[in-house]
Formats: sequence, structure tokens, C-alpha cells
Amino acid sequence: MLCFDSRALQVVERLRSAGFRTALVGGCVRDSLLSIPPHDYDAATAARPEQVLEVCSDFRCVETGLKHGTVTVLSGGLPVEVTTFRKEGDYTDHRRPDKVTFTGDLTEDLARRDFTINAIAWEPEGVADPFGGQVDLERRMVRCVGNADRRFSEDALRPLRGLRLAAQLDFSLEEDTSAALRQHIPELRYVAWERITAEFLRLLCAPAAPQILLEFPEAISQILPEMAATVGFDQRNPHHCYDVYTHSIKTLANAPPDPVLRLAALLHDVGKPPSFTLDESGVGHFYGHPKISAMLSEKALGRLRLDKATQERTLTLIARHDLPVEPTRRWVGRWLSRLGEEIFFDLMTLKRADGLACALPGGEREQIRRQAEELARVMVAEEACFTMKDLAVNGRDALAAGLRGPAIGQALRELLDQVAQGELPNERDVLMTQLDHQKWSLD
Ligand code: ATP
Ligand code: MG
Repeated sequence: MLCFDSRALQVVERLRSAGFRTALVGGCVRDSLLSIPPHDYDAATAARPEQVLEVCSDFRCVETGLKHGTVTVLSGGLPVEVTTFRKEGDYTDHRRPDKVTFTGDLTEDLARRDFTINAIAWEPEGVADPFGGQVDLERRMVRCVGNADRRFSEDALRPLRGLRLAAQLDFSLEEDTSAALRQHIPELRYVAWERITAEFLRLLCAPAAPQILLEFPEAISQILPEMAATVGFDQRNPHHCYDVYTHSIKTLANAPPDPVLRLAALLHDVGKPPSFTLDESGVGHFYGHPKISAMLSEKALGRLRLDKATQERTLTLIARHDLPVEPTRRWVGRWLSRLGEEIFFDLMTLKRADGLACALPGGEREQIRRQAEELARVMVAEEACFTMKDLAVNGRDALAAGLRGPAIGQALRELLDQVAQGELPNERDVLMTQLDHQKWSLD
């Protein structure tokens, strides 16, 4: 029994009662057949966009892409993307069809869709499934509608969509689809970074991401060329039983499905190949690699057009992933203050994920991490001071103490470090005396 949001059904009903054939299509039908609650709704209709606007005039409508036939109808707050049945012309730029033509035929509309499991339509009379999407759902398989080679060459984003979909549903890729997908990965270069990044982050956070990433390293190297050198890179070190790429994916698998943590896990060792050295006994080392990883990742994340905050959080985790942990109030205070609460706990999570992806269990390190996390939780609950705004003195006090210009920020940061590490109490009198000393030491 398929289950759809009644607000989406209302839109379908409205168009049908005005005499236009209308069906729910795409992800909502696929997910519903898999008993997954749909997260967005697409409808396909024989009505032209202006007819959709007219018939749905008592709903709020947004003209999302009139030329391509799409109107977003807001039904009780739920957006339903209503698109006129359409056929697509040739694709000459690997991005979009040269022209789209409206059609009255549902099957023609389903034929332009990417994968069989996305080309199933639902109407109250029943399901239309001309390309065998339901059989593929049962076989847990992602398969192109029609000739895979042609479908991927039309739209260069489709290979990545295919990987994302397989990772999201834990499906495998049908043989021809998989072979053609591999062939067309280089054409991702024709696609705008914003579209790549949206699919890529969803892929990284999907439940079966590790399997897909291990199977298609060339796709990751196409998006993040910095990763290419990690594939198959033998670490020659007893702590590691995997090559750098496999270790990175295993780390990702151990990290929660959060974009920052998964990106940091994927990229944390990207600086290993360029920092590799062998000692006289033939053991591999990677001195200073976290810094190189952060440098390489900065370029990669900039290319992905991620917002600044996401880039900075990810880069901090990468740069600090090898920071030795000490289970003391002094150490925890220092790093809570330097990193902030959220990144502090994310760093512990990344280090745990990294540790679990190595040859040796590292039980002792895990115990230290747990103690540090517990201490951090206690200190956060105690409302201990580890941010500038918690400090008992501020910029005005530093000015009053006679400090000027950059010396103010520097003095306050030093005080915060000392307070956070428990070396000074967070008391105004004590800190004012320290500021006075600073003034004299500068003079
Ligand atoms: P989800 O919403 O979970 O991302 P979805 O399959 O609904 O999955 P959408 O991006 O919402 O994905 O697209 C809706 C439908 O439009 C798809 O199911 C598919 O039928 C069609 N579609 C989307 N993008 C493409 C594409 N690049 N090529 C062909 N068909 C596509
Ligand atoms: Mg969708």
C-alpha cells in the first residue's frame, strides 16, 4: 500500500478533476514503494504550465521554470513540483537538452528520466512502469532508462546521480550501467561545481557510501584530483593495513553522516603521498602530513564552492587530526578554547574514526579520548570559561589598562588561554592586574 502526503494528493486531484492526466513521479514513488517516507514530491501532468497556474490558482504557486514546464505548487506548506509531460531534444553540451517539447504522453515523459527506479509513475488507477523499475527495486539495482552509454553522454551529472542513488539506497549498479558510468566520469568536468557538490555531499553522507567510494575511486579523483595519489598508496607502516585511499574510506565509514566530518575523513590523509619517507629499516613515515593535507584540502574545498564556515571547520579538523590527546583539565581547557566546543567534539569523533581504520585497535588511545571527552562535558556543564565572551575582562578593560591596537587582542587571547587551562582564575581583579603587567612589559 503506497502512502503519500495528502497535501500532494490534493494537487494531483485538482489537476485531474480539471481534465488533465496527472501522476506522481520520481523519488516520491520510488521511496514509497520501498516504504521510505518521501522527502519531496514531483508530479507530471498533461497540463501546460499556464494551465497549471490557472487550475491551481487558489494554491500559492512559484514559477520555478516555466520554459521547462515546472511550476512549484505549495499545498498546505508542502512544495509539489509540477512539470508538464515533456520530451527532450539532443544534448550537445552534456548539461541540458537543446530543446524540450511538451507532450501529452506520460510514457514519453518517463522515457527521458535517468534511472528505471526513478521512472515509475503513480496515479490513483495504478502504477505506470514501462521500463521495469519495480523489478529493479526488488533486485535492488540502479539501471539506466534505455541505452546507458547514451543516457550518460547526454547529461554528465547522471553518473554522479547514479552513484549517489546507489549509495543512498544500498543498491548495486547494473552491469551495463556500471560500465558506461565509469566511461563517462571524466565528463563531470562539463558540470557546474554547485550541482556536483550538492550530489557529492549527499553521496558522502549516504549509508552505503563506503562501498561505492571503494568501487569507484576514479569518480572521487575526478571531483577531488588531490585524492588520486592516495589510491593504492602503500603506507609501509605496521600501524596501517590499508593503502591511504582505503584507509580514508574506512575512516569515513566510521564517521557519522555529517558533511563536515565525512569530508574531513575523506581528505585527512591526502597529504600523505607527498610527505612519505622511508627510514633505514624500510618503515614508511609521513612527518608533517596533517598540514599538507590541510593545504591541499583548502584548494579542493574552495573548488567545491562550500561556504566559508564549512570550509574552515573541515580544514581545522584535517589540520589537527593527529593532535595527541591528554586527559587533563589543562589540555581539554586549552583545546576547548582554541577550537570551540563543537569542533572539539568533532575532532574527538574524527580521531576515533581514524583510529578504528588502522591495523591495531589502539584501545589505550580510545580510553584517553573518552576521558578527555568526559572532562570536556563536565567543563562545559560547569560553564567554565573557554570563549572570549566568557572572559571576565574585555577590550574596554584592556584599553583602560593602557593597551592599544593589536596588543589588545593578543593580550586577551593569552589571558583566555591561561584561564581556559586553569592557570588563572576567571576573576576580574586578577585579570586586570595581568593586563597592567602586560602594559608595563610592553613599555
Ligand atoms: P531525491 O529527491 O531523493 O534526490 P529524486 O529521484 O526525486 O531523488 P530529484 O532530483 O528530486 O531526484 O528529481 C526528480 C526526478 O526527476 C527523478 O526521480 C528523475 O525521474 C528526474 N531527474 C532528475 N534529474 C535528472 C537528470 N539529471 N536526468 C534525468 N532525469 C532526472
Ligand atoms: Mg525528489
